Amino acid sequence: MTHDEVVKKHKDYLFPCVSLYYTKPLVADRGSMQYVWDVEGNRYLDFFGGILTISVGHCNAKVTSKIKAQVDRLQHTSTVYPNEHIVALAEKLAEITPGRLRKSFFCNSGTEADETAVMLARMATGNFDVVALRHGYSGHSLLAKSLTAHSSYRRAGIVSVGISHAVSPYCYRCPLHLTYPGCGVACAEDVEETIRTTTSGSIAAFLAETIQGVGGVIVPPKEYFKIVFTIVKKYGGLFIADEVQAGFGRTGKHWFGIEHWEVEPDMITGAKGMANGTPVGLCIATPEVADSFKGLTISTFGGNPVTSVAAKATIEVIEEERLLENVDRVGAYFRKGLEGLQQKYPIIGEVRGLGLMQGLELVKDRNTKEPAPEATNQFLGLCRDNGLLVGKGGLFANVIRLSPPLNIQESDVDVAIEIMDKSFASVRV
Ligand code: PMP
Repeated sequence: MTHDEVVKKHKDYLFPCVSLYYTKPLVADRGSMQYVWDVEGNRYLDFFGGILTISVGHCNAKVTSKIKAQVDRLQHTSTVYPNEHIVALAEKLAEITPGRLRKSFFCNSGTEADETAVMLARMATGNFDVVALRHGYSGHSLLAKSLTAHSSYRRAGIVSVGISHAVSPYCYRCPLHLTYPGCGVACAEDVEETIRTTTSGSIAAFLAETIQGVGGVIVPPKEYFKIVFTIVKKYGGLFIADEVQAGFGRTGKHWFGIEHWEVEPDMITGAKGMANGTPVGLCIATPEVADSFKGLTISTFGGNPVTSVAAKATIEVIEEERLLENVDRVGAYFRKGLEGLQQKYPIIGEVRGLGLMQGLELVKDRNTKEPAPEATNQFLGLCRDNGLLVGKGGLFANVIRLSPPLNIQESDVDVAIEIMDKSFASVRV
């Protein structure tokens, strides 16, 4: 099919709510490691990675070879029969996740993972109320949309009974109009205020992304989660770290984002980068929390042999190629390059992120911080024209999101920074 045929059929046969990037959509054809090609033969350096999912490169042979072998051996049996691959993956996850996390439930997406975690927290604690964060994103189901606090994703008849939202630790646009560190991290205290005023006074859980991705790569201050953890425990809740974006090495040094804040969560949810593009969802819990699940549950495809092989192979590549260190090193190099661009272009209000999860918040004026969504779109298109794929996010659609594969090198960063430089120079606002 040609580019135009694909775009026309997409418009004719798919839900329009699934929006596409670019005025002329990019019809993807194939990928190899850090590159993607469109059907017209153009090659792109991919610095969005299928929304933080391509963690070890497109079609990485170390992963695909194992997937192919498994597809030919046994593709599916459902979870009523155990198999070697699901237990091997679960054992590996118990090894790499922090603290006492040990027992896994596998499903197919981040949405299901967050649903499972909330359901389990309600059973484990006997409490119902859940506190999430404004600017957060949790997925596309009714519950996940209720947890999400981003209006454009909530126009779906959402009735959020039992879910409250505390303010986001969004320092650049502090909701409390304070400045760090003089603020004393007052946003963390808002979790207590939220519990006292909008819940029954006892909570099932606090659920938050360690770095708010869709919200625009919002990185909480270093004290934030420790303070919140103490509050959550005081009110009987479990601490759920949503690592759908920040997990599996994305932030460098550690496997999971929450480890940077030195908090041991009661549950972690994962998806995206965990299996390098094979659909997967994970809720991992401490044994006592996992064992408190009442009755039965099942996910037909959850942890099927192919998915389990893909996830374990991805984790092994991250381990064998020492990618946690690579992300730390190359991420720091990338960050320097981005800060260099910020010096040059006043439109870049803030550079933020950890490891290879970075964001640029674009503003019309650094003093007023008025968001610049049109310029963000223009920049996205210019980067594409120059051979680089980047993402966007933020409540005001003015944050450029950057999340290349974890195994890129400094030379890839040099190319990306050069293209971004050229693209920023052409943005007309
Ligand atoms: N949690 C977070 C933090 C996410 O970013 C996403 C997806 N963007 C989800 C949950 C939902 O994941 P999925 O799209 O796989 O259902």
